[in-house]
Amino acid sequence: MPVPARKLSRSKVRRRRSHDHMNPIQVGVCEKCKAPIMAHRACPTCGFYKGRQVVDHSRKAARLLKKTGHTHEHPEETKKAS
Ligand SMILES: [Zn+2]
Repeated sequence: MPVPARKLSRSKVRRRRSHDHMNPIQVGVCEKCKAPIMAHRACPTCGFYKGRQVVDHSRKAARLLKKTGHTHEHPEETKKAS
């Protein structure tokens, strides 16, 4: 099994790992409902993007209801928890 020719110095390892960090994501605020949103994406709560409706959440909810027999919200579960 091939192995590295020699041990990397602490300095070399740490220099490489200096770039291993991640940057925090940029979180915006929806113009309409003030929910936190990702940049360049339609609002997951109200379906608005750049001041207009791009996702019809009423149809999405109806489709989800037809498919799974329940909507995304779980009022019965929240009742159990409290
Ligand atoms: Zn919104």
